[in-house]
Amino acid sequence: MFNFDDKDLIQMLSLGTDSEVELNAMKEKKVEFRKHFGQLLSKSRKNAKSNECFYCGEKCSSFCNSHSIPAFFLRNIAHQGFVYNNHKLINMPLLDDDIGVNKTGTFQLICRECDSKIFSDYENPDNYEGTPTSKMIAQIAMKNYLKSISKRKLEIEIFNNMMDSTEQPFENIEQKQIINNLDLQEYIEGLNRAKRVEKKGWDNEYYLFYYQKLDYVVPIAFQSTVVLLTDFEGNIINNIYNYSPEYQMKSVHICVFPLESSSVIMMFVDSKEKRYRSFYKQFRKLSHEDKLAAINFIIFSYSEDVFIHKKINEEVLKHQGLVDVSRKSLELITTNPNIDVNPLLIGKENVNFDKMHEIPNLLSKEFKVR
Ligand SMILES: [Zn+2]
Repeated sequence: MFNFDDKDLIQMLSLGTDSEVELNAMKEKKVEFRKHFGQLLSKSRKNAKSNECFYCGEKCSSFCNSHSIPAFFLRNIAHQGFVYNNHKLINMPLLDDDIGVNKTGTFQLICRECDSKIFSDYENPDNYEGTPTSKMIAQIAMKNYLKSISKRKLEIEIFNNMMDSTEQPFENIEQKQIINNLDLQEYIEGLNRAKRVEKKGWDNEYYLFYYQKLDYVVPIAFQSTVVLLTDFEGNIINNIYNYSPEYQMKSVHICVFPLESSSVIMMFVDSKEKRYRSFYKQFRKLSHEDKLAAINFIIFSYSEDVFIHKKINEEVLKHQGLVDVSRKSLELITTNPNIDVNPLLIGKENVNFDKMHEIPNLLSKEFKVR
């Protein structure tokens, strides 16, 4: 059904470019691309749609537009209702690089009633005077897992539809689908645990190893889990090339919340999780500035889910080091995983913490919004 070469589609989605020729070619194809990708996306959304709320299990006909990061945090870095996403950095002309706060990072997986209840502690700006409660942390974890579940479910359907629509062999997609399904299973387990912790009000089930309130507003907002590959000394934390179903990826939760006149930055892991022990021991020894630089580096080199202040100095967004690490994060996520590759080398090349000072640290006071 697609005239478009699906391989092109994946490539264009995955990688940004600086080449003038390529940029113009991509711009010319924009309308066609949008149309085909739009069809693929809407078909896949229908396929991924359930008729039950993923949280309470009740029948549900109209799902809530849940925000993956509370809108009131985004409003603190928005300009006329808009923020940048990371497409701005990697120069992907086929996708919009700014987005309205109300549409930003939303997912439809749970009913309105659940959405208005289950996040209410952490989604209340008044609750950020002091250290967040265990309940707030569990709610953040629940939200992170729900977002990841929604993303993976959609991605699985997109790839299914791509495989249906072409005769070309798609070995890398098949391989990716295996990983996607394993990931989905892990996210569901993570969600179920967070749900239990939240409901019972248990303390210390998540270990908040970093909490920092800054007296200025940072120009980025972030709430997500990240699967770290190596620690500060280059030791492996997660081996992304281990496909054994028994081997699970373990993630760290990271939050950067811009408030009205301050910011809250947090990192936590599941307390049962020992894989991050050396990482947070090393992290705690860093200076205040280096801690911020490390988190800034993790966000840009590991994730695509960052939102950026629209009034930020455009020169910062053109910084070659920042652009390079942002593209690497996408390559890490999208390239065909080669089983023979030594994960130690991959980790060292792409996400070596030695490079954390080579990119602008948007969490430092220098870049404050106010
Ligand atoms: Zn519900």
